[in-house]
Amino acid sequence: MNQPEEQVTTNLTQDLRGHLLNGRYRLERPIASGGMAQVWEALDQNLSRRVAVKILHNHLASDPSFVQRFRTEALTAARLSHPAIVSVYDTVSENHLEAIVMELVHGTTMRAELDTHGPMKVPTALAIGVQVCEALSAAHQSGLVHRDIKPANILLSVDGRVLVTDFGIAKPSDGSDLTAAGSMIGTPKYLAPEQVVGKSVDSRADLYALGVVLYEAIAGVPPFLAENDTATALARLHHDAEPLRDLRPDVSPGVEALIAQAMRRNPDERFTTAAALRNALVGVATEPDNASPRRSPSLSPPALSTSTNTRVDASDTAHPTGTPIAAEPHPGAQVVAGPVDASKDDTFMDAAYMDEPEVTPRRRFRWLVVAVVFVLVGAIAALALRPNAGPSTDSSLISTVSVFDPPPGDGTEHDQEAERVVDGDPTTMWSSETYRDPVGLGGKGGVGLVVSLENSQDVKGINLNSPESGWSVQVYTVQGSAPSDLESWGSAVSSITDASSGLTALRFDPLIADHVLLWFTRLPESGAMKVLEVTVIAQ
Ligand code: ADP
Ligand code: MG
Repeated sequence: MNQPEEQVTTNLTQDLRGHLLNGRYRLERPIASGGMAQVWEALDQNLSRRVAVKILHNHLASDPSFVQRFRTEALTAARLSHPAIVSVYDTVSENHLEAIVMELVHGTTMRAELDTHGPMKVPTALAIGVQVCEALSAAHQSGLVHRDIKPANILLSVDGRVLVTDFGIAKPSDGSDLTAAGSMIGTPKYLAPEQVVGKSVDSRADLYALGVVLYEAIAGVPPFLAENDTATALARLHHDAEPLRDLRPDVSPGVEALIAQAMRRNPDERFTTAAALRNALVGVATEPDNASPRRSPSLSPPALSTSTNTRVDASDTAHPTGTPIAAEPHPGAQVVAGPVDASKDDTFMDAAYMDEPEVTPRRRFRWLVVAVVFVLVGAIAALALRPNAGPSTDSSLISTVSVFDPPPGDGTEHDQEAERVVDGDPTTMWSSETYRDPVGLGGKGGVGLVVSLENSQDVKGINLNSPESGWSVQVYTVQGSAPSDLESWGSAVSSITDASSGLTALRFDPLIADHVLLWFTRLPESGAMKVLEVTVIAQ
């Protein structure tokens, strides 16, 4: 912990590039370095897929308590299965190397995003908050408190997902964690007051930390920042944060009140659960004030404005470009030049580190900003939502959208609303008729939308933004004219079952198509499929 992180990064980089871990995971490039570990992009040779491999820093691997904590992290995270929590695939202990193999997230961290682009648009911050709450809700219901919610542990994927990572200091609610009684653990800027004073901590500490994250994301500065970590940690014990609207007058009173409530010093005065905070976030996000960003009137509102649970795009800040971590080389894409040092907001393992100074000035991350807009799913989606976004947007590839309701359907499904899914306005939508049996649909088996392309296009996917969860869709494509019966569309090229709300990216091998059919075979519980926006991913 006292060793400079960059030193560690350099050593590990030299040692491990190309290393075949456990005869299976080829370490290709370091992505980032946190307080505990370095994370690598690797190729799983057995399954031919890219993974992230988190390797405990070698100066910690000789300490049995850190090794134990690291192994516990893997077990903890592996218990959780949630779209907003990074999935753990495997663990490896080999020649003093301790590693966790996990889902590789292509994108950026909220930390890098804030460092690169500064404060976020309010709706974007709220949308991230909603997703983090959902992850926290899953963790809390599994009896875990994360205890280290901070921007560096919130990943923003290029396909619009928000994922919580780093369960390194998560604590079972039964209290059987590895932390010595009375010691402080966490990251000073985001610690709840009860963490600072070493009191018992429950799920409401995570809600406090998320409040701090949202405050920082919107204000551009954390609510408490003093000359050193000790002073930063202690500041919150004695006074409340400066009102958010003093720093960002364009923030609505509702947002200010919500974030202040999440950061109440007394846990009893905070939201009682992550689900309650989530609902409050959705509530303020749909206020007219927050549905359209006032700072950047040229940008249209992100999808949260009407959704109850929406994925966001890293590029959907006041500045539309994202900073990919772990981005695969992509046609037309630029990727970061080197590893990210995520150690700026280092996690404290022990009160002994309380006097470490706030080491890293914000500017330290500036060298990383070499990524530009690139043609990836989420980026395209966000761009497509912006008026005048230019020829690179994929909504310009679509000429018309019509309803597909073959017999025994009556041929109509709110046809006049279909074009709303390509109007670039995520506050308008197409809704199917409402069915009592969302699976059989009265014997119809499905209801669809035909997306007709401007010309024959080499397409490789379609993005679909819906406020609903629990629906399933199959994707078909065709060259020439659009058939009126399902059989003539051939086989599905992609599908998803039980999809979540928000942005869903359906990918397939590139092919030439004139029309794409979205065939919804299961409707959400509400009985009606709802689609806010659709965009096509072209070659
Ligand atoms: P630490 O415990 O050392 O803080 P983290 O698990 O937070 O380690 O990972 C450190 C950094 O690595 C993160 O801030 C992020 O930049 C990157 N990272 C972590 N997990 C992944 C992942 N699954 N995919 C891509 N990058 C990741
Ligand atoms: Mg971390």
